[in-house]
Amino acid sequence: MKIFCVGRNYVDHAKELGNDVPDEPVIFMKPKSALLQPNTPFYYPEFSNELHYEAELVLRICKNGKYVTEKQASRYYNAITVGIDFTARDIQADLKKKGLPWEKAKAWDNSAVLGTWKDVTPEMLRKPINFSLKNNGEQVQTGLSSDMMFSFDEIIAHISNYFSLNIGDLIYTGTPAGVGECVVGDILEGFYEAEQMFKLEIK
Ligand code: ZN
Repeated sequence: MKIFCVGRNYVDHAKELGNDVPDEPVIFMKPKSALLQPNTPFYYPEFSNELHYEAELVLRICKNGKYVTEKQASRYYNAITVGIDFTARDIQADLKKKGLPWEKAKAWDNSAVLGTWKDVTPEMLRKPINFSLKNNGEQVQTGLSSDMMFSFDEIIAHISNYFSLNIGDLIYTGTPAGVGECVVGDILEGFYEAEQMFKLEIK
């Protein structure tokens, strides 16, 4: 199982971190060990002093494929949820400054959180999907799938030019503006429309 993540897929978020708006999807990966298993506590990583949440829509791949066209792409995922791409922002800033890869900031154990899966229906994709994140009951991030620079189908087509897609692979499709720091004791809740998908305490 592979975990793909899209960086800078919302203009407002790219700008809040001072990044250029990309002309093709920015793709990075997390290993399987990055996935927080259900009913497992999430601990603040000891190597960071600036842990950021990034709420994202996550797709689950249901069909093996390579060189998938945009037109075919919607057949390759059948489940969606809201998740968190946890980021050690202090480490990422240091790596970015040095032009080094991001894994130590992004791909560590338990850095990928998933909500409850929802089956994807054609109706769900016909209008923009609203998702959001609350920290201690206060809304800190809100996103609309129609604000993505690269749509689900464009992302899948692009990824499949480089990597084979396999059943069970996950795609974190990028975070909207409003990323921020979290501390021990914070309670993060992810929402797909009005439906709560996860509730996570930082231990
Ligand atoms: Zn992200």
